[in-house]
Amino acid sequence: AAAEQLATFADGALLAYEPDRNFPGIPGTSYLSAGLSVGTVSPRQAWCAAQGVKEIARSDEQRQAITVWEQELCWREFYQQALFHFPELADGPYREQWRRFPWENNSDWFDAWREGQTGMPIIDAAMRQLNQSGWMHNRCRMIVASFLVKDLICDWRWGERAFMELEVDGDLAANNGGWQWSASSGMDPKPLRIFNPATQASKFDAEGEYIREWVPELRHVNTKDLISGEIAALERRGYPEQLMNHKVQQAKFKALYATIRS
Ligand SMILES: Cc1cc2nc3c(=O)[nH]c(=O)nc-3n(C[C@H](O)[C@H](O)[C@H](O)COP(=O)(O)OP(=O)(O)OC[C@H]3O[C@@H](n4cnc5c(N)ncnc54)[C@H](O)[C@@H]3O)c2cc1C
Repeated sequence: AAAEQLATFADGALLAYEPDRNFPGIPGTSYLSAGLSVGTVSPRQAWCAAQGVKEIARSDEQRQAITVWEQELCWREFYQQALFHFPELADGPYREQWRRFPWENNSDWFDAWREGQTGMPIIDAAMRQLNQSGWMHNRCRMIVASFLVKDLICDWRWGERAFMELEVDGDLAANNGGWQWSASSGMDPKPLRIFNPATQASKFDAEGEYIREWVPELRHVNTKDLISGEIAALERRGYPEQLMNHKVQQAKFKALYATIRS
């Protein structure tokens, strides 16, 4: 099945991987992560398939799309190598100062995040996709991870554990690497890279199609409110109010980060 999936992807979506891979409402990626994580398809097979398509690609755009996909395979290899050479990554942050970060760890907020009940539609759509299908789009993994760590100020290891429990492609190296990247505690730290979920939704789910698919109780809400998460009480129909304010939490996170910088 994994070999068929690779062949189908190589014949179609691969040629438009860039830019389609950015939009969670489009089936623009390979969905090979589960197969790669359990070994029903190998990274070498994936790489060879990409090379084969590159030879017959008809434009620079198509060749570039294939290169971008190959780079994603390289991220996988990078995190495998990182974990092999630094096995301590599995136990905590690569950057030592993050051991001192004063996480707030509000368990009610964490549960709401895990269940897709935060009141922020793009976050809830993504977490429900993960709960219901065992897979989440990469863009959304980055958005929900940033939200848990930098908006809810919750230890990234809680999120890492939750992902491993829910993902069909759960892989220690890729998952740990993704969480440490998002938490800024890893090998490519940009501490003040904080995703604004509304901005992310407006860029990558501009029509709200992905949100409407996974948060069906909000299908009737207009796209602007769906993206911003500012939904009038009457329109919410049982959907929760936002847990917190992004700007307030962002300022709090920055202040806490200042305490561990020195
Ligand atoms: C917080 C977080 C947690 C993640 N946890 C996992 C995990 O447990 N298992 C997992 O396989 N991936 C994980 N990823 C990486 C990425 O989200 C998935 O590999 C990707 O979404 C799988 O979809 P796909 O197979 O359609 O990927 P495609 O876009 O088709 O990419 C092809 C393959 O490249 C690899 N790959 C792509 N992006 C990454 C990446 N950023 N890091 C490492 N490998 C990558 C995967 O093996 C993937 O199947 C995580 C990312 C983040 C931000």
